Amino acid sequence: MRAVVVGAGIGGLVAARLLKRAGLEVVVLEAHTYPGGLAGSFYHRGFRFDAGATLLSGLAPGAPLARVGEALGMAWPVEPLPLGFPLMEVLLPRGRLLRPVGREAEREAQRDFFGPQVLPFWTWQEDRAKRLLEVAHRLPWPPEREEVGLLLGLLPGLLPLLPDLLRRVSRLAPSAPDFRRFLEAQLLISAQHADPYALYAALALDLPHLGPALVPGGMGRVAEALAQGLE
Ligand SMILES: Cc1cc2nc3c(=O)[nH]c(=O)nc-3n(C[C@H](O)[C@H](O)[C@H](O)COP(=O)(O)OP(=O)(O)OC[C@H]3O[C@@H](n4cnc5c(N)ncnc54)[C@H](O)[C@@H]3O)c2cc1C
Repeated sequence: MRAVVVGAGIGGLVAARLLKRAGLEVVVLEAHTYPGGLAGSFYHRGFRFDAGATLLSGLAPGAPLARVGEALGMAWPVEPLPLGFPLMEVLLPRGRLLRPVGREAEREAQRDFFGPQVLPFWTWQEDRAKRLLEVAHRLPWPPEREEVGLLLGLLPGLLPLLPDLLRRVSRLAPSAPDFRRFLEAQLLISAQHADPYALYAALALDLPHLGPALVPGGMGRVAEALAQGLE
């Protein structure tokens, strides 16, 4: 059997690798001159630049990228960032706030900047993110047809999450204007929405704690590693 994948972005390349692993003959068609799409890197006057994505996370055991790597039998060309590493620096009207790797360090940074009143929100966020990941770990990857049946089996784990399912995160977040500004900016980056549903927000805010990594040579190396397995 043969398969044609249109687009050598990360999505297309992962799909192509999975199809190849399943024994199909795969051809990937890409309109551009290099792979990676929005997570590619290009050369200009001898320097290499990322075309879009710059931040990679999800390599912690059981997190999404770790699972993709396992399923493809490949190691990502990355260097994990250590606990405490200042992953992001957020510029706010009254100063700079770091988002370090690791929940302890993040809680400390949040308390020092916004005050202890924001800590219950982070406790809620951590709890929901961990519960969602537990559920995700029990789902097959790549997805299988039996997912609906599996989800029914996971229902007891999902029940405590239901109250947050249709609530916007703004209903749960502290109302201090500078915290709201920080939160909206973070969510726009990681959830593409300033006020998403609370469960989605909890997971999106977990980005620094899901195993972030540096990609030596630029983000495009990830796509190149995926493409190499297809040649
Ligand atoms: C500015 C920016 C910053 C971002 N920052 C981050 C970040 O820091 N961290 C993060 O995790 N995510 C980030 N993202 C999101 C992430 O880059 C994308 O979600 C992801 O790369 C999308 O991959 P994809 O394979 O779905 O699509 P794409 O990367 O869009 O890939 C689609 C590919 O298909 C090709 N194509 C399209 N039409 C055709 C056709 N007709 N024939 C042949 N080829 C075709 C395109 O050229 C492209 O290579 C960012 C996105 C942007 C735009």
